[in-house]
Amino acid sequence: MEKQIGQTQLILKIGDITREEVDAIVNAANSTLLGGGGVDGAIHRAGGPEILEECRKIRDKQGGCPTGEAVATTAGRLHARYVIHTVGPVWHGGGHDEDRLLASCYRNSLALASQLKCRSVAFPSISTGAYGFPIERASQIAVRTISQEVPALDLTEVRLVLFSSADFEVYTRATTRS
Ligand code: ADP
Repeated sequence: MEKQIGQTQLILKIGDITREEVDAIVNAANSTLLGGGGVDGAIHRAGGPEILEECRKIRDKQGGCPTGEAVATTAGRLHARYVIHTVGPVWHGGGHDEDRLLASCYRNSLALASQLKCRSVAFPSISTGAYGFPIERASQIAVRTISQEVPALDLTEVRLVLFSSADFEVYTRATTRS
């Protein structure tokens, strides 16, 4: 599924994000930056130890990454120039600023990609795995935030790489309605 937003093509697909060929792959990290399960584990496994080495350096310098923010490292063996690690909010019922923090993940990751002169960026479905954010709501925030941000940025392509056909359907609905 594709949608043109100004100069940028938004592409939704089913797949394993570690296989994407893009300038930047976004990781749904945790604030320690020391690796975890889910997409984070997959990215470190496929990308190799260089990514974690750089994460450690960032952690030593600035003590991890706060929720809603983003930091960049090498992409190691992945077919990308950078991995952008962003920390999604843990879902606590919706009254703890989760919506704003999730939007910040997409906004800050896109801004960082753009600063790094990336033209193509791939996102996973941030926060909707172990962090428990309801996916319908998350998909609307993701699509809305990407649509709001890309007109000011020099990006050719933003991909949302969904890990199941069920997730893909949810994001497709959000994109069609936006
Ligand atoms: P979070 O802690 O932010 O919820 P998770 O990694 O637990 O992050 O899940 C985020 C989403 O990433 C989930 O929808 C999960 O199914 C998906 N995911 C897991 N592995 C991959 C992968 N290799 N490629 C793309 N998406 C993945």
